[in-house]
Amino acid sequence: MKYADEFRDKEIALGLAKAIRAEADPQKLYRFMEFCGGHTHAISRYGLEDMLPKNVRMIHGPGCPVCVLPAGRIDMAIRLAERPDVILCVYGDLMRVPGSQGTSLLKAKARGADIRMVYSTIDAIRIAEDNPGREVVFFAIGFETTTPPTAVMIRLAEKKQLENFTVFCNHVLTPPAMQNILESPDIRNIGRVEIDGFVGPAHVSTIIGTAPYEFFAEEFGKPVVIAGFEPLDMMQAILMLVRQVNEDRHEVENQYSRAVNRDGNLRAKEEVSDIFELRDQFEWRGLGQVPYSGLKLKRAYAIYDAEVRFDMHELRVDDNPACECGAILRGVKKPVDCKLFGTVCTPETPLGSCMVSFEGACAAHWTYGRFRDHQQRRAS
Ligand code: SF4
Repeated sequence: MKYADEFRDKEIALGLAKAIRAEADPQKLYRFMEFCGGHTHAISRYGLEDMLPKNVRMIHGPGCPVCVLPAGRIDMAIRLAERPDVILCVYGDLMRVPGSQGTSLLKAKARGADIRMVYSTIDAIRIAEDNPGREVVFFAIGFETTTPPTAVMIRLAEKKQLENFTVFCNHVLTPPAMQNILESPDIRNIGRVEIDGFVGPAHVSTIIGTAPYEFFAEEFGKPVVIAGFEPLDMMQAILMLVRQVNEDRHEVENQYSRAVNRDGNLRAKEEVSDIFELRDQFEWRGLGQVPYSGLKLKRAYAIYDAEVRFDMHELRVDDNPACECGAILRGVKKPVDCKLFGTVCTPETPLGSCMVSFEGACAAHWTYGRFRDHQQRRAS
């Protein structure tokens, strides 16, 4: 298949659904977590859960980079942006992510902070060149997919000898988060969700390859199938997971072989490892402190590190206690389990990060799933 619509072919999707129904043992439960926010969006958008038998359940994971950024890091960014000498450059979907006590970058901008939305890392470099008398900070977020562009940007800033440019680094790593979901000490507070396998992320795996999941699959005995974003990708990956569970296997398999190989993108990985190193701990919304799950700039690049230049200190703040984002990001609850879903909290008035980004579980369910809920309520 060459074109996107071929990966959405209804007849093939129905055939895969039939195969899943035929192979899923009715005596067993199959609980698969899709780690990636893009997968969560695809499941809601194409109504894939409706095509699965009741004993094959999908659990949303913490794979939306906007959703997992904790309120404390948003507060840190707001404090930075409120400095009169700073221009803070951010991607648009970060603007409405809640910090503590209902704050957000959007509200800070309305109060006068110089916060500018950018579409790419190169925009931030241009703003720094155009404003030599100001400090320009790029608010870098995202998984392994968005880290290489940040690394390239730092190289470019170095080449251009930009002295007024820094990065507030919030890049995070996928495999430690998957591990944390299975063994975190926070399980006692937030609860545990039983998982029989993972649909592994697509874009992230184009960079890191499939190899990093091998240790994880062996150590925790959970199958991982890397999948693309189209509905047929997802259905095929689910069938592959069902087969692994039936055969008592826990291997890493690659459904998305048209874009992902075992080693990933060597050039991108090299660039990243030249410039970044692991943090001992990094806080995730919903997961708490996750060891070795975040990146920071190496000491050799400290002049581009906003946390160093502005002597920023870690802020730890609690989420709105009424918001269930933490449990949703762990897969313990679903959006409809939150009392605020669709009433107080909508994409226009988001109270939690899961409602902000279109990849967030609450936003995806609001956009597509709530109509299905309505139909099911009417039918029952
Ligand atoms: S519906 Fe809103 S308040 Fe509830 S968990 Fe989702 S984002 Fe948080």
